[in-house]
Amino acid sequence: MKQKARWGKMLAAALALWMALLGLNGPAGLAAARISGDEPGTTPITKKAAIVIDDFGNQMQGTQEMLDLPIPFTVAVMPFLPTSKEDAELAHARGKDVIIHMPMEPVKGKKSWLGPGAITVDLPDEEIRKRVEAAVDEVPYAVGMNNHMGSKVTADKRIMRIILQVCKERQLYFLDSRTTGQSVIGELAAELGVPTAANGLFFDDQYTMEHIMKQAELFKKKLDKQDTLIAIGHVGPPGKKTAFALRKMIPQLDGKAEFVLVRDLVKMEQP
Ligand SMILES: [Zn+2]
Repeated sequence: MKQKARWGKMLAAALALWMALLGLNGPAGLAAARISGDEPGTTPITKKAAIVIDDFGNQMQGTQEMLDLPIPFTVAVMPFLPTSKEDAELAHARGKDVIIHMPMEPVKGKKSWLGPGAITVDLPDEEIRKRVEAAVDEVPYAVGMNNHMGSKVTADKRIMRIILQVCKERQLYFLDSRTTGQSVIGELAAELGVPTAANGLFFDDQYTMEHIMKQAELFKKKLDKQDTLIAIGHVGPPGKKTAFALRKMIPQLDGKAEFVLVRDLVKMEQP
C-alpha cells in the first residue's frame, strides 16, 4: 500500500512538472479561465425557443430519439391510436409537456392520413364537440392542443369556434400549427379568451436530411431577429433525422436562447 501511495505522489509531481513545462494550468487555472470566459455571457439570455414534436401515438419512428433530447419540449400526441396513452405517459414521466394533436381535414390530402376521430367540415356541431371532448379525454396530462394537418378546418369559423370553446372549458391553450394563411384561430381565440400561439417554422416539411439541416439553420437565424420562436418537427418518416438535427443544433444555441415549453409562450390576445 505504502509503495502505491509513493508512486501516486511521484506521478502527481511528474504530471505537475510536465504541465508547468507545457505552460498549462491545473484544475484551479481551468476554473479561473472558465469564470473570466463567462464574463461576456453575464447578460441574461432573453430569447426563448419552444420546440414541438408532432404525431406521437402510433409507435412512430424516432419516438425514443426525440424523448432522449436533453431539453424541455412539447409532445403532441394523436388521440385514439395504439400508443396514444403510453406516449403521453412516457413524455410526462420524462418531464416533457403533452398536448393533443387533433386531426383535422386539410384542403388537399387524403382523409386516410387523418387518423381516427378526425374533424372534417361535413360534421354537424354536436359531433364535432363529441369528437374533441373524446380526444381530450384520451390523452392524459394534456395542457394544450394543436392541429394535425387541418388547412381546411382551421379556416372554418363554425368548426374552430366549437373546438376553441372546448379548449376554454378544459383549460387548454391552442397552438396554431399554421398549415394555412387563412387561419381564423387567432381572431376566435381572442374573442373566446383562449390562450394561443402560432408555429413559426417546420423543421421537416420535406424529409431529406439536407432540408432538415437547412431548417435548423433557419431556426437559428430567425432567433437572431426575434425574441421568441416556436417550431414544429415530427416523429414518423423524418423522425430519426429530425432528432439528429436537433441534437446537433441544441448546443449551438447555448448562451443565446433558452429552450422553454409552448405554455411559457402562449398569450391571451385582445379581441
Ligand atoms: Zn401531425
